[in-house]
This record gives sequence, structure tokens and C-alpha cells, in this order.
Amino acid sequence: MAYLYAVADAAPKRIATPAQLVALGEAMRVRRTCPVCGRDVGYCLPRRWGTCLDCHDTPSWRSAA
Ligand SMILES: [Zn+2]
Repeated sequence: MAYLYAVADAAPKRIATPAQLVALGEAMRVRRTCPVCGRDVGYCLPRRWGTCLDCHDTPSWRSAA
């Protein structure tokens, strides 16, 4: 039996830098913001709609935008 790799040569765990975390947070905020009503709805918008659930279920909001 033998080890398949040397522990000392293994790559360290990837740790996100603060800048990466900020960029990720901004990207997630954009994904949560509905372009129709402009709200941060608190969840990622369904990609097939591109709007929040309220806008999708309320056609009048869509036509007004
Ligand atoms: Zn909306």
C-alpha cells in the first residue's frame, strides 16, 4: 500500500478574497433585483421569466414597464 500523492504537494484550499466576496455579493444582488418593479425580491429571479414572481403573475405590471 502507498499514498497516491504527497500531502505536502497538495494544493491548499481555495479561499475567496474579500474582493471576490464583494463581487459575488453584487452579482447575487443583481440576480435578486427584478428589472420590472426594481425590487430586491430576496430570491434569485427565475431565468426563464427574468422577472420576480409578482411581476410574472401580474401582466399589467409588465405592460406598464
Ligand atoms: Zn418584479
